[in-house]
Amino acid sequence: MTNKLPRVVIIGAGFGGLWAARALSGAPVEVILIDQHNYHLFQPLLYQVATAGLAPEDIVYPVRTILRRQANVKFKMAEVTEADLALRRLITTAGIIDYDYLIVATGGVTNFFGMESVAKHGFGLKNIDDVLAVRNHILRLFELAAQEEDPAVRRALLTFIVVGGGPTGVESAGALAELVYLVMPKDYPDLDYDEARIILMEASNRLLAGLPVELGVVTAETLARKRVEVRFGNPVADFDGETVTLKDGETIQAHTLIWAAGIRAARLADKLGVKQAGMGRLVVKPTLQLPKHPEVMVIGDAAYLESESEPLPMVAPVATQQARTAADNIRRLIGGQAPQEFVYKNPGVLATIGRNAAVAHIGKWQFKGFIAWVLWLVIHIVRLIGFRNRITVLINWAWDYFFYERAVRVIMLRPAKKLNKES
Ligand SMILES: Cc1cc2nc3c(=O)[nH]c(=O)nc-3n(C[C@H](O)[C@H](O)[C@H](O)COP(=O)(O)OP(=O)(O)OC[C@H]3O[C@@H](n4cnc5c(N)ncnc54)[C@H](O)[C@@H]3O)c2cc1C
Repeated sequence: MTNKLPRVVIIGAGFGGLWAARALSGAPVEVILIDQHNYHLFQPLLYQVATAGLAPEDIVYPVRTILRRQANVKFKMAEVTEADLALRRLITTAGIIDYDYLIVATGGVTNFFGMESVAKHGFGLKNIDDVLAVRNHILRLFELAAQEEDPAVRRALLTFIVVGGGPTGVESAGALAELVYLVMPKDYPDLDYDEARIILMEASNRLLAGLPVELGVVTAETLARKRVEVRFGNPVADFDGETVTLKDGETIQAHTLIWAAGIRAARLADKLGVKQAGMGRLVVKPTLQLPKHPEVMVIGDAAYLESESEPLPMVAPVATQQARTAADNIRRLIGGQAPQEFVYKNPGVLATIGRNAAVAHIGKWQFKGFIAWVLWLVIHIVRLIGFRNRITVLINWAWDYFFYERAVRVIMLRPAKKLNKES
């Protein structure tokens, strides 16, 4: 590739990859951005698609549209299946692509920690396919419950289990409670809602481990007021599609288990032949470079870097900030300068628990209730890509807030998972 601009290949158009491509705008490089999808996905609102509040199109945006004004970047929709770091070569479903510099921003996938039964019968919340499957499944269970004569079967159909007491589990349980107790009674007035149960299971003894203890306590109390049963210290051991078995042997009849308890690095990380840490994340130097491959940087959920002896969290601000450092370091390497170390500036953590209720920890400040909820709304609207998406999401939220109507209560696809009794 002599006499040509150096080629930077970025794998992944999520928060890390897309921000890296933008940060290379105007740089003397040719950028190729590869993703298996043709869109950027705003994962923080996935749970709202799962609970029928938003349509998938509201939280995705075409990558080509986002980057259409950036002259030095080309997008390729393809999956990277293998990488040969020695040859600086990627094998993709669209052919072989060579690089001078590589940014790996492949993110994560749901981590079921090897529990095959849970992976088979439960639902993840990591991509559009996952959440559409959840939405269709929940809505279909209401149709089945409305036709069911046996109260025990009805109770099982209307029992929803969310596993994982981090922000995603809390947000999903809160949104599910509002769907079940506030929205669905309008469409299914004959159901007895005392037969419904929403259970949030957390293996440790507290919610929202990344936030101060008091905010976890407030969150559990708020969820309880929304009729979510919060249970601690008894991890899920098995789920066969009809019965959830807990570690101590207790069983719960339920057809829905939503797994929000773990993420691991996406599979490509396992194929690079370099050192991995917990959750399969790739160990990088403070400059985000792979130890033996200075031309390769890893950012976002796929990267393992410690800050104050703790691994950096798998959150969007880490990915976007690392993207800027990686892009800057590539410019520096090209200019013959030493790369700089990444320093994370934590902008704070927020989690919403439903209407008028959220918790936030920003710097020294803690917020809860309505103020935190408004903060959450504003930040999410601002961070969504695309003016049209912002307007649609705002309208949907306002409609839901004032009229208790969720926009997308339709079963659109054939069920991704059948109930055992149907197979
Ligand atoms: C349900 C949910 C809620 C969340 N809520 C929040 C929140 O409120 N706040 C927050 O800060 N963070 C939140 N996060 C975490 C945040 O979304 C991630 O930390 C962030 O997306 C990581 O960015 P990334 O670029 O590393 O990976 P991603 O954004 O996941 O992007 C990875 C991209 O790589 C692509 N890809 C992967 N493998 C390949 C391959 N082999 N070939 C081609 N393309 C590939 C994927 O298609 C994807 O587009 C949430 C995550 C989830 C799942």
